[in-house]
Parts: sequence; C-alpha cells; structure tokens
Amino acid sequence: MATIRALLAQGNGKLGQSIHHFDLPSIATCPGRSRACEAVCYASRGRFRADLVRNRLRWCLQQSRREDFADCMVDEIRRKGVLVVRIHVSGDIYNVPYAEKWLSVFHRCPATRFFLYTRSWRVPEIAVVLEQMAERDNVRVWYSADPDTGLPEPVPTGVRVAWMQSSEDDPQLGNLVFRVRRLRTEPIGRVGLPIVCPHETPDGHDQNVNCGNCGHCWS
Ligand code: SF4
Repeated sequence: MATIRALLAQGNGKLGQSIHHFDLPSIATCPGRSRACEAVCYASRGRFRADLVRNRLRWCLQQSRREDFADCMVDEIRRKGVLVVRIHVSGDIYNVPYAEKWLSVFHRCPATRFFLYTRSWRVPEIAVVLEQMAERDNVRVWYSADPDTGLPEPVPTGVRVAWMQSSEDDPQLGNLVFRVRRLRTEPIGRVGLPIVCPHETPDGHDQNVNCGNCGHCWS
C-alpha cells in the first residue's frame, strides 16, 4: 500500500540536490552510539529540534516499523526514478528487522545506489545484516568509528571506515575523516591518508563540494 507523504526527502546543504535521504530520530534509533558521537551529534541540534523536523522524523520511524515499509520504499524509488539514496542523515539501523527491510529494498532496486554510515556494527546481530548489505554492488556501507568505539576489527569485506575527529588531538584513522564543526576551519594538518571529507575543509567549502559532486562515499 502506497503512503501519501513521501518517505524520501531530496537534498540538503551537504548532500546537494540530487541525492535523496531517509531519516529517523537520532540517539533513540542509534543502538551502537558512543559517548563521543552522542556528545557532538548534529542531528540533535539546530534545525533538527524544530517541531516540523521532529514530527517528520517520528513519522518516518512509524513508517519504518510497518510490515510493508520495504514495499512502500521500493515503490517510491521506482516511481521517482531515484538514483542515489543516503540512508540516515539522522538516526541509524535500530534493529535486525529494520535492517532486513533495507536489504530487501537494495535487492529490489539494483539500479539505485545506496550509502550509509552506521555505528550499529557494534551490535553483533545487526552487524550480520550489514555485512550482507556490503556484499551488494549497489550499496556502500561505512562503519562509523571514533576514539570511544575504536576501529572495527576485522573490517568486513566491502566495508570502509569513517572516523570522527572531535578534537585536534584525536588520531585520524580509517578511510575517511569527518571533523566536527568546530574543527572545520582548521587546516587539515597532518592528514595524508585517510582523506578528510572535502565538504568539511576550507578549500572544499569555497569550491561548493557536496556529496553529489564529490561521490567519494557512494560512487
Ligand atoms: S567525502 Fe564526499 S561523498 Fe563523502 S561525505 Fe564528504 S562530500 Fe560527501
């Protein structure tokens, strides 16, 4: 059964306008969260505190619990001809049934590219499904990590690691570094590899880099 409201939102300042996204309330749907990520969670601040946004995220969570969530999502992706989906600008994979619904969507929408960053790799039963996602050609799975979580060990085949740097003294590990807002005007400094997300650097900001024109995480 089709839903009346759209499940997917289109674009934002970081994603650009060509990428769709599906979001959930932060923290409550993040079983793998760490103290470090919760302390700086952008999705619990600013515009995410507006009633309009909070109501939409709650509605999205209700939809995600429906038995026919995957059917509705597949229908919307096909109907709109969606090419790239970021799962969870806010929120995370909160349990196994929800993870399996997305796995079904990935399977049924092979021409659409999906990408997600998740700390739910810290929940062993969810990690099993994440590993199945990462095996698919049309899915890019990033394990989010920080000094509290440490690096996942081992990193499953097909998975890359996105490392959160929240202070100048944090190490810079993994395949990609995200810097908290406070650090984004700072020079990149000692980073050679891994790369710092160019959207979060002064040069990238000046050049209007966004996920749509960068593609590092999803192409
Ligand atoms: S590296 Fe590129 S694709 Fe990945 S989050 Fe940053 S801007 Fe987006």
